[in-house]
Amino acid sequence: MLRITQLSHSFMNGSEQTPVLQGIDFHVAQGEMVALLGSSGSGKSTLLNLMAGLMKPTEGEIIIAGQPIQRMSENALALFRRKSIGFIFQSYELISHLTVCENIELPLVFQGISPKERRKRAQALLAKVGIPEKADLFPSQLSGGQQQRVSIARSLVTEPALIFADEPTGNLDTKTEKEIIDLLIDLNESMRTTFIIVTHEHEVAMRTKRIIHLRDGRLVDDTLTGGRAEGDAS
Ligand code: ADP
Ligand code: MG
Repeated sequence: MLRITQLSHSFMNGSEQTPVLQGIDFHVAQGEMVALLGSSGSGKSTLLNLMAGLMKPTEGEIIIAGQPIQRMSENALALFRRKSIGFIFQSYELISHLTVCENIELPLVFQGISPKERRKRAQALLAKVGIPEKADLFPSQLSGGQQQRVSIARSLVTEPALIFADEPTGNLDTKTEKEIIDLLIDLNESMRTTFIIVTHEHEVAMRTKRIIHLRDGRLVDDTLTGGRAEGDAS
């Protein structure tokens, strides 16, 4: 599904090159749920942006669903990203003047899907993320956890093979954090969507079945955990 080979990236800092990622190698299979764990500044967001094709790496290769993404044209890459990759952000990134349902439908508008079909899919996903009654409200009328549920539904609406979540519970309290991670685990199990979850929180990472640990731009550990059982009180 996702293969990263000898990936390195540097930012120019004035006239100096600052290495941010060095020699990263890993492979993620279809249907896996992986945490990308590291402290602030370890390079997690940079790695995510590279994997999403939002920047080109200084060195190395990123292959998603058999496609070496840095060799695609800008247009082909934009299309591929829209079709095959979903995003979940720490700050939800919902559009405030659109209703919950309209926010979820938005990625389908760009695909030319009919309004009726869009609404049907959005409502089905809204039920799946547990807030079917919120369809016609605006984001500001929802709690943070509910807004993140909407953003999760939106990330799924194009049925992407792969979803990147950058600190998805970073703005949430501990109880809501647990609920959101529970939801992501359920979706991963029921829909077989591949999830890459970036976090600096060990407790969040321990909920997934695999942790890739970044430190100072290097992959220092890649371990299988107990997954759900670790964090499951039941
Ligand atoms: P994380 O998401 O793990 O907190 P980042 O990937 O955001 O880490 O950043 C890793 C390092 O790269 C940091 O030292 C940061 O200052 C630097 N960095 C990130 N983006 C840029 C940029 N656009 N230009 C220069 N340096 C950057
Ligand atoms: Mg970050």
